[in-house]
Amino acid sequence: MQWSFPLFRVAGSELRIHITFFLILLWFGIIHFQQGGIAAAISGIAFILAIFACVLLHEFGHALAARRFGIATPRITLLPIGGLAEMERMPEKPSEEIIVAVAGPLVNVVIALILLIYLGFALDPEAISSLEDPTTGFIQRLAAVNIILVLFNMIPAFPMDGGRVLRALLAMRYTRVQATETAARIGQMTAFLFGFLGLLSGNVILIFVAIFVYIAAAAEAQQTLMIDITRTMAAREAMITKFESLAPGATLEDAAKALLRTTQHEFPVVDHEGKLLGILTRADLVSSTSEHGNDYPVVEAMQTEIPAFRTYDRLDKALAEMQKSKAPAIAVTDASQRLLGYITLENIGEVMMLRSARTS
Ligand SMILES: [Zn+2]
Repeated sequence: MQWSFPLFRVAGSELRIHITFFLILLWFGIIHFQQGGIAAAISGIAFILAIFACVLLHEFGHALAARRFGIATPRITLLPIGGLAEMERMPEKPSEEIIVAVAGPLVNVVIALILLIYLGFALDPEAISSLEDPTTGFIQRLAAVNIILVLFNMIPAFPMDGGRVLRALLAMRYTRVQATETAARIGQMTAFLFGFLGLLSGNVILIFVAIFVYIAAAAEAQQTLMIDITRTMAAREAMITKFESLAPGATLEDAAKALLRTTQHEFPVVDHEGKLLGILTRADLVSSTSEHGNDYPVVEAMQTEIPAFRTYDRLDKALAEMQKSKAPAIAVTDASQRLLGYITLENIGEVMMLRSARTS
């Protein structure tokens, strides 16, 4: 099921909105209605929409900065916890990465300043702790939200903008891989500190933020590390070259025998010239056998959309293509499209394991 759907396109980016966003609107409308009737409900919903407009402008800040460096942002998604600008890639130069990362929070700094000027710099500190209280002024609360957005995003942990700034600063002195590893560790320590402060003060929101940051930091660091490591490698360095393949005339029964005989979970189906026709995975084998029986031809059960790369292509390109196409593997072929080997996510995992074993 699709949980987010497109609203409109602005400046080359498609704006998508997550379905739970409407639940938040509804929830806010209801609690305000209970407190002050229909007028309060409308102002409550308007407040949430204003917050999301600020989050959206934040994401466009990233997207516009990235565009200056020739990077497009095909999609911007509004999630209930914030926005997500999906850029084609991250800038490779640390200085450019810093500019792109800072551009988002900078938008909120500007919005907060404009609102503070409007308020004559008389921000009620109460506004920060009573965002949901409709008796505090609308502009007061919106200014407070923008200040919180800046502070939250500048937490020096992935996937916050502050984490990217930290990584880029470290990358000016160390290699990208070292910078990412160090930034991830600092991020998790920060999360730990937040969790500790949250427990001490009994602040539930702080504890949730800490858990979110801790989990997201690990996931983002893993993904970033994978890109960092594979960008310096060629496809040939990670490919499987010892494998059994199936002939186009093979049946699922032949494939089943091959599955038991080998440790492979993916079987390339190759024609008499050595060209790849498709890949049959263990899951395809199981589901097709139960549906069509043993004598079904493998060419009917295999997956045919397999991205192909050359031995000298960069491994990060192959990885990105595998993740984008959701293919079970990447084929590595020669100039006449004959199959030389293939790469699976498991291989890439082994590459990562070896890399971290060598450095520790
Ligand atoms: Zn941001």
